[in-house]
Amino acid sequence: DFFMKTWVLPFNKGNAEQKELLGGKGANLAEMTRLGFPVPQGFTITTTACLDYLENQEYLNPSILTEINIAIAALEDETKKKFGNSQNPLLVSVRSGAKFSMPGMMDTILNLGLNDETVLSLAKDSGDERFAYDCYRRLLQMFGNVVFDMDHQLFEKIVADYKQTHQLVSDSDVTADGWKEVIVAFKVLFVKLKQRDFPQNVEEQLLLAVEAVFKSWNNQRAKTYRRLHGISDSLGTAVNVQEMVFGNFWDTSGTGVVFSRNPATGEAGLFGEYLMNAQGEDVVAGIRTPKSIQTLKKDLPKVYLQLKEICEKLEAHYKDMQDIEFTVEKGKLFILQTRNGKRTAKAKLVIALDLFKEGMITEQELIERIEGNDLEEALHPAFCKEDKKEKESWVSGLPASPGAAVGQIYFSADQAVEASKRGEKVILMRAETSPEDIEGMAISEAIVTCRGGMTSHAAVVARGMGICSVVGCENLSVDEKERVAYADGQVVKEGAVLSVDGTTGDVYIGELRLEKNNTQLPLKELFEMLDKQSSIAVRANAETEKDITTAMELGATGIGLSRTEHMFFEKKRLMLFRKLILAQTLEERIAILETLKEVQKEDFKRMYYVAKGHPMTIRLLDPPLHEFLPKNEEEYQETAEFVGKSAKEIKQKANALAEVNPMLGFRGVRLGVAYPEIYQMQAEAIMEAAVESYFELNNWMEVEIMIPFTTDASEFQRIRQLLEERIQEVFHKYNQPVPYMIGTMIEIPRACILADEIAQYADFFSFGTNDLTQMTYGLSRDDSPKIINQYMTHGLMKEDPFQVLDEKGVGALMKMAIEKGRKIKPELKIGICGEAAAHPDSIAFLKDYAIDYISCSPYRIPQAKLLLAKG
Ligand code: ADP
Ligand code: MG
Ligand code: MG
Repeated sequence: DFFMKTWVLPFNKGNAEQKELLGGKGANLAEMTRLGFPVPQGFTITTTACLDYLENQEYLNPSILTEINIAIAALEDETKKKFGNSQNPLLVSVRSGAKFSMPGMMDTILNLGLNDETVLSLAKDSGDERFAYDCYRRLLQMFGNVVFDMDHQLFEKIVADYKQTHQLVSDSDVTADGWKEVIVAFKVLFVKLKQRDFPQNVEEQLLLAVEAVFKSWNNQRAKTYRRLHGISDSLGTAVNVQEMVFGNFWDTSGTGVVFSRNPATGEAGLFGEYLMNAQGEDVVAGIRTPKSIQTLKKDLPKVYLQLKEICEKLEAHYKDMQDIEFTVEKGKLFILQTRNGKRTAKAKLVIALDLFKEGMITEQELIERIEGNDLEEALHPAFCKEDKKEKESWVSGLPASPGAAVGQIYFSADQAVEASKRGEKVILMRAETSPEDIEGMAISEAIVTCRGGMTSHAAVVARGMGICSVVGCENLSVDEKERVAYADGQVVKEGAVLSVDGTTGDVYIGELRLEKNNTQLPLKELFEMLDKQSSIAVRANAETEKDITTAMELGATGIGLSRTEHMFFEKKRLMLFRKLILAQTLEERIAILETLKEVQKEDFKRMYYVAKGHPMTIRLLDPPLHEFLPKNEEEYQETAEFVGKSAKEIKQKANALAEVNPMLGFRGVRLGVAYPEIYQMQAEAIMEAAVESYFELNNWMEVEIMIPFTTDASEFQRIRQLLEERIQEVFHKYNQPVPYMIGTMIEIPRACILADEIAQYADFFSFGTNDLTQMTYGLSRDDSPKIINQYMTHGLMKEDPFQVLDEKGVGALMKMAIEKGRKIKPELKIGICGEAAAHPDSIAFLKDYAIDYISCSPYRIPQAKLLLAKG
């Protein structure tokens, strides 16, 4: 078995399927080599070798070593260069790459193979001494950092000091002699900190580098990243050893990152950045501000065209948007990496739809590619337009990851984490971010940086996490020590409230109001596809014009729950309703009901108007009456004035209405039994509105009147009869009947058990999962959290049944009720409403129920549709 293991594989022997063995980077380098793309040659030391090394107490077994040596020899032959030779030396990069891309998590070393001798040859062959010593000092820097864990800031300080002493501004101003001086200082640093010299032996360099990459699999950053992304610890990383090409060589060289489509918006066309005369990660590191890929057209027109063609080919080959790293050496293009690009949820949606339209993927593939929470994320909040107009931004940068967030600023990841633990909403503001910041970034509402471009660490990570982000705010400075940021003469201290708009790249001092934003998303097209895939529709819980409008835009096929009591919450109506409750005589009540009816009728008409003929379930009054009575002294006074009674009298009434256990008391259909005139008034309002709308819109409204809290067929039958009387009167009055249904909410276990009896009289069932859960468990909704927490800590409950429906208990009751009801009445319409029904884990089993729809809050509709459509 040991002898069957693959320790090393040259690029020209592998392919894209071997991600497990070669890591994502290695497998794609092999695939591109196989397909004839211009990839510098090299080989991959496999994840198998990594695991073997880590399992054997970090011991590199001799067969791995032998295979590495063989591979180097082969690479020497192919490149006609020699590793460590003083003439024509082979230089390589040592690049980590696990199965799943972990940006910036593992480490890479460039220019390996340089030493005091080979650098002379590089200088001579290239005719550019400055270039050669620049490469060498970079090797020392990366090697020291990756292999010996020397703080990279120590190296940077040496460079900065040198530049300051010699009054130089940028790295490119440093001459060959300058770099030589810096290199001497670097070497001293090795001795001082590590009590050893930088290894001049290139074989030693390679082995130390390979082992360092292997070990980096277990560093804290990598572990944290894996934990946050649910990646297994037992995969290991591969190491790619690849011939160096040089982007830091004259002015016809450069390096960059390009996406085959825009990763923020999904827009078609190349999107990316590059730097001329630069190496490796200069682009991503945000040291210099890179140029947009579009200017490459002017800088190197031939290379641009070639790059564009390669991007298109790679995208067509992988059938997905690619994130490509390239380097140009003296006008010659090399591709150093490709992978499926990370993108925002919105871009995911746009790209999937475009790829489908371009015939690259099927409808089914499209649906599978979009994940449950993408849609919710794509509907990220935005700031109110009025607020944005009124306020001037404090600083602006690049819109790296869309969305909008308000929070308090912190200047270090640790402080951000602390603040978030205190329950604050946090905005992380840094000069630039690095992988060490990852935990602080994960808990932030927004990330703002002073430096770096659209592909900088901050931008990539924020997009991946769906966190709003603005990067590269050029005139912003952050003083981490003093805990202040300043720009434009204004100083902002730690803890101050800022508003960040990742869609436009603006940062504001103070708080802007949020507005949900779902424009520009091709939702309609998507919904059409999704709806074809499932027989279960998705409706909305909504009762205001605004919510109904939103719900319709978000693909609701109707309103599954419209709670009429919500219409009484507004001040004036509440007063009127209080007056009703406090009325002494039936006549008094009827007079008030007449006014209330007109109010509700107008509400319903407006609601029908925005629901555009889609079905709407309207629930008659449900909560116990005393919930509408005043809560404090002030309210008592106010109410007393309005109804013309003394506060004392009202208090007496309130006492009379008080119940020991109101949730099991005078509510729902029981109110209808006690005060039939209230339910009748509501039925009248609903139907008058329906007939009048029909006249005005010439369109039937499918009205479904829902009686809540039913326990028995007899009570339902009684109320139905009372309602029918009024409804007939309405039809008579207008001389125009319209269709309607009367059904019930099934939310008490007894109703589930007697569903067959109730179905004889009801046109539809709608399960109210909140109450049904409460009563099935005998667990009060309002007091449940502390009890559930207890149960969870003892491992007695896996999930909060108010968040994820309880399949075993509540689900079984619903199933029974569905069966019993359909047996009596096969055409019985059945829905499930209640937020928990839309939870992904609930949908996972509700998919198989014989129901017509589920109903949830508007913003959860798209996700619910998607999950129902997935196979
Ligand atoms: P990461 O996984 O962090 O992106 P990479 O292994 O891709 O690390 O290396 C980072 C960068 O180093 C690459 O984007 C590329 O610019 C540069 N690089 C890596 N290998 C080579 C090489 N053989 N020649 C030139 N540049 C290289
Ligand atoms: Mg990196
Ligand atoms: Mg890379």
